[in-house]
Amino acid sequence: MNPFVYNANPGRVIFGPGSHSQIASEVQLMNAGKALVLATPTQSKAAHRLSDQLGELSAGVFDQAVMHVPAETAKAAIEAAKNMNAGCTIAVGGGSTIGLAKAIALDTGKPILAVPTTYAGSEMTPIWGITEAGVKTTGRDLKVLPRTVIYDPELLVTLPDFITGPSGMNAIAHCVEALYAENANPITSMMAEEGIRAIGRSLEEAVKQQENIAARSDTLYGAWLAGASLGAVGMALHHKLCHTLGGSFNLPHAEVHTIIIPYVTAYNTLAAPDAIGRVAKALGVESSADAASALFDLNIAIGAKMTLSELGMTEEDLDKAADIATRNPYYNPQPVTRESIRRLLDDAFHGRRPTVD
Ligand code: NAD
Repeated sequence: MNPFVYNANPGRVIFGPGSHSQIASEVQLMNAGKALVLATPTQSKAAHRLSDQLGELSAGVFDQAVMHVPAETAKAAIEAAKNMNAGCTIAVGGGSTIGLAKAIALDTGKPILAVPTTYAGSEMTPIWGITEAGVKTTGRDLKVLPRTVIYDPELLVTLPDFITGPSGMNAIAHCVEALYAENANPITSMMAEEGIRAIGRSLEEAVKQQENIAARSDTLYGAWLAGASLGAVGMALHHKLCHTLGGSFNLPHAEVHTIIIPYVTAYNTLAAPDAIGRVAKALGVESSADAASALFDLNIAIGAKMTLSELGMTEEDLDKAADIATRNPYYNPQPVTRESIRRLLDDAFHGRRPTVD
């Protein structure tokens, strides 16, 4: 076994149906004063309900969280936290809401209680991101790692099927890349493989039976492991490509991950046979050569969008995307060339079944 560094996840995690009833006692335990409740406009009602339930423990609600944390939203939220005398934040929502809590923490050091309601996994990472003038800057800082996380599968029963599926695949993508990460270690690999196994066996059910708590628990458990893997090791081609596509062509985060992950898995199969073999094992297929196809089949099973063209990309965009994604060198098991990435994008644009060759 090679020497490795393992970065710890949040110190306290509460998992289980109904656990959101412990939000008040967890705020008290954090001992950081009143909490500002954060949400997206869509989840505003739930945030106000929570704030009412918290009574004296709540500093108020800021319900303007949006995807990719625009700098002006972060600024307004930081102001709100100061004006309302909040000592900490509660982020009830997906990666967008948790991302906003992280922006506040980065600026003010206010600790976060995260209550994730998607499978994006941000609650398990010290990674922050802020977007200014169309450019997203990301970084790592332990200040933004939530202090406490409450995983309550009951909060996910309202997550619609068309968000549930891609969100689960987004989590699987974290796990796939963690398995062949440059700094992969036995602990994260164990978590990543188990994350794929848990989501792989339950995602279709969670999509088709939105209120199935057993399926929601299993997928959320997998998302926890996926987020922990993402937070602990570096990512590679898949995340680079999705970052490029999302940022430069304004494509929806989780859907892009969903479409791309089978192709990047195929691309890396021969160069990372052990890692991709673990992906195959977790998905219950024979060999590493079948892993990419199994992910493609899972996308079909959950009724996901299968082509970049469905997300609004045009064929002319593919050259530009390949240029941007290969402009700076970065680690990937299979060396990255402009020509091979252009081919990969073409397959993803048309939704062809991925092949390993
Ligand atoms: P999101 O947070 O934008 O949520 C998608 C939509 O679903 C929103 O409209 C939200 O209000 C709604 N929603 C969320 N939970 C719901 C529920 N239970 N019921 C009904 N509606 C619900 O999307 P996301 O995919 O969770 O997060 C994406 C963002 O997170 C991106 O900006 C991405 O870059 C970031 N991210 C960051 C990290 C990190 O480690 N920093 C990790 C993963 C994702």
